[in-house]
Amino acid sequence: MAILGVLRYPDPRLSKSAHPVEVFGHALEELVSDMLETMYHHQAIGLSAPQVNVKKQVVVVDLSENQSSPLVLINPMVSSAAPDHSHFEEGCVSIPGFYLPIRRSRSIQIEALDAQGHSFSMIAEGWLAACIQHEIDHLNGQTLMDHATMKQRSQYRRSAHR
Ligand code: ZN
Repeated sequence: MAILGVLRYPDPRLSKSAHPVEVFGHALEELVSDMLETMYHHQAIGLSAPQVNVKKQVVVVDLSENQSSPLVLINPMVSSAAPDHSHFEEGCVSIPGFYLPIRRSRSIQIEALDAQGHSFSMIAEGWLAACIQHEIDHLNGQTLMDHATMKQRSQYRRSAHR
């Protein structure tokens, strides 16, 4: 296991789309365990492979308080989304010190594969739904900054966080 380097906004590699995983095996399992370790190291609740400079559709999430409930989503897709929304203030390991309330679907159904390539379906609600939508944004080359105003972006660029 290893702690991986995390790309930081405005690194252009954060704006590239990730490719679906097609090969399952040791290398993918190692990536997943390194991503979990990296996420826990930063006390984050979610991390996507593009943030560690791997252009693959891999997401890890853990909303538990004691790092006991890792969720691994390979090639995740939102198959349905409830029409009602929630607003959570989100942060991002790639944009330290920046927080933004984001409007997300409050309940989503996800189709994904696990780290061994087995498909599964799940329903996520509330904070978990928001977190998964945030990570899927990363797979599509989108970050919190794509939801921000020009003013918020320039304020962040001028701030001391970089
Ligand atoms: Zn993020």
